[in-house]
Amino acid sequence: MSFVKTRQKTRSIKVGSVFVGNAAPVAVQSMTNTYTQDVAATVGQITALTQAGCEIVRVAVPDMEAALAIKRIKKQIEIPLIADIHFDHKLAIAAADAGADGLRINPGNIGPTHKVKAVADCAKAHGIPIRVGVNAGSLEKDILATMGATPEAMVESALRNIAILEALDFNDIKISLKASDVERTVQAYRLISTRTDVPLHVGVTEAGGLYAGITKSAIGIGMLLSEGIGDTIRVSLTRDPVEEIRVGWEILRSLKIRKRGPEIISCPTCGRCKINLFDIARTVEDALLNSTTDIKVAIMGCVVNGPGEAREADIGIAGGDGIGILFKKGKIIKKVPQDRLVEVLFQEIKQYESDQN
Ligand code: SF4
Repeated sequence: MSFVKTRQKTRSIKVGSVFVGNAAPVAVQSMTNTYTQDVAATVGQITALTQAGCEIVRVAVPDMEAALAIKRIKKQIEIPLIADIHFDHKLAIAAADAGADGLRINPGNIGPTHKVKAVADCAKAHGIPIRVGVNAGSLEKDILATMGATPEAMVESALRNIAILEALDFNDIKISLKASDVERTVQAYRLISTRTDVPLHVGVTEAGGLYAGITKSAIGIGMLLSEGIGDTIRVSLTRDPVEEIRVGWEILRSLKIRKRGPEIISCPTCGRCKINLFDIARTVEDALLNSTTDIKVAIMGCVVNGPGEAREADIGIAGGDGIGILFKKGKIIKKVPQDRLVEVLFQEIKQYESDQN
């Protein structure tokens, strides 16, 4: 039995070719950090994100040039694109007309109902969903004044925004409720999941640099997913967004929800290790970054304990003193001169891949 609770039932929506919600797999998202109007740079980053396993990408649309650029970007990418808009409903309409597969807006900051209605009508005409993005840092003034920037206030804002769209007969909605700390984020999603069946995009926003960002995202997203909450995820890092995708997949893999590509296990090394395992591990990791082969590879520091400690690995290497070993499922296959260990490992992985196909 899975240690993760059964996914909470949400309504099904479609972002381009990707189903979101209900029984659809939890999708991994990211957002570009290029200037969207720089089409070549944006397409380049989306291509790298796609290779890393990004399934839905969001781009910022701060002005009309960015909105119009979507048309050219869409022709050159393979994954659905969501346009992220603040304040200006004309940008949302232009982005939808340019071919965006979804809009991320906050109806509360789009302005009067007729403007929200114009966006909802346009999204409906194009058959695309709207994500209501609630952020603890930009709640409506009246909600903030009475409730503070609390999880309850975030939920209130989300429900209000959902109600605005549903009153316009627009139901193709996804919500996110993000705060920059794990506690409020988790509480807000727990609360909203009992109040609506709208699919949830989960993440801890502005999570920080590598260490803080990965830790907060893994704990926040991980806690929610383990409770069955979350239909799409985004890890937020002040880094290349490709790294967000890699962390997102590792979170899903750790929870045994989905997996993609090789799993690399490597030991932390100790006084028994007589090779430069850190360099070897990095070389193997880099070489397998975009591989989609379902394989478990072990890179262990010593012959004595390595094969036993990594018994579940399909293929592994362990360093010795001048001579290393290749092992499969804990069994030693052959001895290999240390300077050929990585080369032999790659040959074996290639063989494994062709055996799988
Ligand atoms: S595999 Fe060997 S080197 Fe690595 S941690 Fe275990 S005992 Fe130490």
